Amino acid sequence: NLQDKLDRAFKVLKGQGSITEINVAETMKEIRKALLDADVNYKTAKAFTDDVKEKALGLNVLTSISPGQLLTKLMNDELAVLMGGTVEELNISANPTIILIAGLNGAGKTTFSGKLANYLLTKKNKKPLLVAGDVYRPAAIDQLEVLGGQIGVPVYTDRTSKDPVAIAMAGIAEAKKNGQNVVIIDTAGRLAIDEGLMKEIAEVKAQTKPHEILFVVDSMTGQDAVNTAKAFNDRLDFSGVVLTKLDGDTRGGAALSIKSVVNKPIKFIGTGEKMEALDVFYPDRMASRILGMGDVVSLVERAQMQFDEKEAAELQKKIRKNKFDFNDFLSQIQQIKKMGNMKDLMGMIPGVGKAIKDVEIDDNAFTPIESIIRSMTPYERENPDSINQSRRSRIANGSGTNIAEVNKLIKQFEDMRKVMKQFSNPAAAAKMMKGMP
Ligand code: GDP
Ligand code: MG
Repeated sequence: NLQDKLDRAFKVLKGQGSITEINVAETMKEIRKALLDADVNYKTAKAFTDDVKEKALGLNVLTSISPGQLLTKLMNDELAVLMGGTVEELNISANPTIILIAGLNGAGKTTFSGKLANYLLTKKNKKPLLVAGDVYRPAAIDQLEVLGGQIGVPVYTDRTSKDPVAIAMAGIAEAKKNGQNVVIIDTAGRLAIDEGLMKEIAEVKAQTKPHEILFVVDSMTGQDAVNTAKAFNDRLDFSGVVLTKLDGDTRGGAALSIKSVVNKPIKFIGTGEKMEALDVFYPDRMASRILGMGDVVSLVERAQMQFDEKEAAELQKKIRKNKFDFNDFLSQIQQIKKMGNMKDLMGMIPGVGKAIKDVEIDDNAFTPIESIIRSMTPYERENPDSINQSRRSRIANGSGTNIAEVNKLIKQFEDMRKVMKQFSNPAAAAKMMKGMP
């Protein structure tokens, strides 16, 4: 499946410290194959992988986040953008709001009409009226009436008429009379796109002047869904797409291609036959679905929080014995740096990301500290107490800093060591706490 393919693609990157031209190119080839398998059309898949590749090469990769994870997150974000980025609300401010439903036979128009009425009634506090505009199949009128009965929404029908335009207009008049503020017009489909159907629905559009025209398409039809969407959009210039039958493990690739081919937002997805099986379309969730993974962000976070537990235990022991030295200090600094760039790291804390969006955060804050420690001899690092005045001036020279900075670091280190020692010894910590106000 797609996940296996992605896993394989990421394997190419595993164990590599940086995203390079070569491993990205290889990975993107695999991703492209995986996307094609998920019904994304070739042009879209190619444009997408080219874009991700370019962005990936510009990324700053730090060692403890695997390039694969970073790339996964990048792809997830980019896919979401490709599918519109944000949630597109239905335009339902007019009174009455006219919504025209269009699509091929079996796409799920009638079912969606019912679901939408139910959604508007229960979630948007609207009073909808359903209009049965499929005049060719009496069963379609029955079907809509049954659905209306289930959800408690009235259905306008005229079984004597064969004129969808007249029925739609009569339905709108009925809604105005009864104070219903949304009119949902279900229409007839065809097995394939044909001129008769297009002419008829275009005529309904011209007369009813809908505020929303929702094109309903079966996501299981893959590439055909894209072609159908294009044909309907050329003729109707619809305002949004509804992807049905996205329940179970149906792949969402069509969502990606449709959006990029017709450039109209996907507004809803149908996820089952029941009236409640309707979801507002969230691009980021669909991106995760297409990539076949759960919460990518948490995955990346977990990787970044990964500490070597053995190392931590070792450190505990050293602190208890007051053996914490400059080598440990240096490795702590490196741990922090390894986790990623400071701004990205802080940005992962909920609520912080936005706040620091425009703030400059210095990733080089540790540089002078590191260079001072590196200018110490191994003996000095292990025996901080040995660092006397003459050693300090040698270290200052060697590190390109000055005596004051070296003194400051050593003082900070000693203070830190004291505090650490106290907290690693419960009795001492309690004694210290007592002394506090
Ligand atoms: P229409 O010809 O476009 O009006 O399509 P219908 O609304 O009659 O739906 C055709 C079939 O697809 C029916 O059996 C529906 O129950 C089914 N259907 C519609 N939407 C969904 C969906 O989101 N998930 C599933 N599993 N079935 C759906
Ligand atoms: Mg129908």
